[in-house]
Amino acid sequence: MKILVINAGSSSLKYQLIDMETERAEAKGGCERIGLEGSFLKHKANGKEVLIEEDMPNHQVAVKLVLEALVDKEHGAISSMKEIDAVGHRVVHSGEDFNCSVLITPEVLETIASNTELAPLHQPANITGINACRAIMPDTPMVAVFDTAFHSTMPDYAYMYGVPYEAYKNYKIRRYGFHGSSHLFVSEEAAKYLGKSKSELKIVTCHLGNGSSISAVNGGKCVDTSMGFTPLAGVPMGTRSGDVDPAIVEFLETKTGMNTAEVISYLNKKSGMAGISGVSSDFRDLSAAMEQGNDRARLALDMFAYATKKYVGAYAAAMGGIDCLVFTAGIGENDGYIREKVTDGLGFLGIAIDKAENKIRKGGIHDITANGGKVKVLVIPTNEELVIARDTARLSK
Ligand code: ADP
Repeated sequence: MKILVINAGSSSLKYQLIDMETERAEAKGGCERIGLEGSFLKHKANGKEVLIEEDMPNHQVAVKLVLEALVDKEHGAISSMKEIDAVGHRVVHSGEDFNCSVLITPEVLETIASNTELAPLHQPANITGINACRAIMPDTPMVAVFDTAFHSTMPDYAYMYGVPYEAYKNYKIRRYGFHGSSHLFVSEEAAKYLGKSKSELKIVTCHLGNGSSISAVNGGKCVDTSMGFTPLAGVPMGTRSGDVDPAIVEFLETKTGMNTAEVISYLNKKSGMAGISGVSSDFRDLSAAMEQGNDRARLALDMFAYATKKYVGAYAAAMGGIDCLVFTAGIGENDGYIREKVTDGLGFLGIAIDKAENKIRKGGIHDITANGGKVKVLVIPTNEELVIARDTARLSK
């Protein structure tokens, strides 16, 4: 069985063709600058990488080009579009309407559209991607896999904010959480690696990338997560502020003359590591700058590690213990300095890493637990596409 996984953004469309026997990507790539000048498709298959520069006025043209690349005699991976058994779409927001992945029908698509106001930047792009695929492959089953779904098991006292109850009832204001497929994937991988049933494990998963979130996974179920109503909440990130006192919004408006939308954009795009350091949102640049003595780069990294550490402690408390700590995504998988800073001083929880092992870069699951450490500390490469492909295969059979 072959599954095409689509992750559509407002001007981009990433894809992977996954063979479910091997669970490996046979082809992958992405279209960029859709609807803009200079659009192109980067496609990889059979050990070859090609750059296809073609005009892509909309997502439907982009999907058509992706399918052409997939069946191309030279750099393709399949001989005909018919070999694609189903398409799995990443959809950012399920609202409270879905707590798991779902086969896409016209009614489902309507419900997804009704949650657009909860993710105004992402949801329209996801819907455009679904419609583009449906137009070109009308008979192929399609499945929606939501970023929020894994977090739907949070108890009410964890997902509610301290605002009047009618704000939740009338406007769906609550914590939703994001990166769900990644937290699910790495927590399951951790259980497999430890040779235990997920039902007996308390795991804290740290997805640390451009956007970062931390989750508490108790018995295989998410019981809390650091992102909130939107992906702006939680730890400070590449360009996002993370949690701030909400009164800062009006204060900034008064002081700077920015309107509310401008302040929110300031918190989303100009803040976090980039805003604090004045150097970059990229952790590689920040580490290099810190090594050269840049104190604001040092400050940004310290703030990130400190905020992450506080979530680890908080979630150990929320679950009444912790058996395993997982690091994943661009920073979690690659940045030994951040892993060391996050775990430093957590010996009282039984968390200790082998500092030499932590400096080594390995592919696959990497156990960095110190000798005698009670809590397993694992570096696990995430694979959100595989989660989407597995759900798509299961629901489209
Ligand atoms: P996204 O949220 O866009 O999927 P990723 O998970 O790919 O992000 O993470 C991207 C971030 O990972 C980069 O901004 C960079 O800061 C960090 N990163 C990637 N490789 C390294 C590395 N070798 N060392 C430190 N940080 C890294």
